[in-house]
Amino acid sequence: MQSFLPRSGLGIKPRVSNPRLCQLLSCPDGTQETLAGMFCKNGSVVSNCRSIVEDVVNHANHFLHPLLYFLKVVMAEQNFVDENDIDLEDRTKRYFGDLYQRLQQYPILVVGAGAVGTEVVKNLAMLGVRKIYLVDFDKVSMSNLNRCIFFMPQDHGLMYKVHAVARYVSQAWQHTELIPYAMAIQDAPEEVWQVPIVILAVDNNEARYYCNLRALSSEQPPFLINGAMGRTFFEIQVLLPGETSCLVCSWSPEYVQGMFRRIVRESCDQFFVKTSERFPAISVLNSMIGAMMASETTKILVGLEQWKQHKQWEPEHQPILGQALRYDIATHEFSIGKLIPNPECVEVFCKIHRQAAQ
Ligand SMILES: [Zn+2]
Repeated sequence: MQSFLPRSGLGIKPRVSNPRLCQLLSCPDGTQETLAGMFCKNGSVVSNCRSIVEDVVNHANHFLHPLLYFLKVVMAEQNFVDENDIDLEDRTKRYFGDLYQRLQQYPILVVGAGAVGTEVVKNLAMLGVRKIYLVDFDKVSMSNLNRCIFFMPQDHGLMYKVHAVARYVSQAWQHTELIPYAMAIQDAPEEVWQVPIVILAVDNNEARYYCNLRALSSEQPPFLINGAMGRTFFEIQVLLPGETSCLVCSWSPEYVQGMFRRIVRESCDQFFVKTSERFPAISVLNSMIGAMMASETTKILVGLEQWKQHKQWEPEHQPILGQALRYDIATHEFSIGKLIPNPECVEVFCKIHRQAAQ
């Protein structure tokens, strides 16, 4: 657009806007090319309209002065980069204010580096969390790329998901140290549990059961932020096992027994091929649930110290502790509800905590 400005010899002094301006911009060949239609998404002139624009400018300059002024000013602003704008956390600091430093105080454990886990990590790194343990035993598959931003086609079958995520994070957000563990959470080293918050971005209840057990058997149980998805909906739970409901309070004894029988059968049968059923999954739901889980994480982080002392959160940062939040993209139904602790919970440590609290 700017290329024809010198040739046109037009000034940029604005004149009174003319309501007929848009009507004048019709193509000479008779097609109804509108003003808006002459510009592609990035604001540049569509190439085959360039000569048309020049003709219009040359023949109707008195009508186009306001347009040229607008374009020149707007485009100049778009190209302007402030040399002092070098702090990538500038906008985040403006959001959190004095609370911003608290996001950096503790490491976070993220279990699962699939569609949800990668979205959580992306957001935590962008929010300024300084240390993240990421645990997942899986390698990248091509079908992951419809919803995982960190994976590349050439990673298929070769690179562990956690290493692919670490590769990107180490370059894009150097303030965040991402420590990858390419293994099952049951095999992860003890250091990953030295965190105040464990984020469960897994697709199986065995891992959820194990993390819940680890939390309950800890001297200082961490908060658990659990995410689960269906075809059109997602649900997140924010728990502090021992204080709120635990993750398995709602599981029946029959379900837990069946889960253990399946684990034993799979580990004993050398001919058993584990097949994880593939369910439909699209990126937008992953983005939403990952963002909400990361958001709950920040709420706990900024209010953690005062919650320990006074059981109070920061006013604008109240997590949904002890509750479940559910959103369905198909029906736009959004619901939130309390998770009731189960006095007959199948997890014995849950009972012990409850008895100790009474
Ligand atoms: Zn329980």
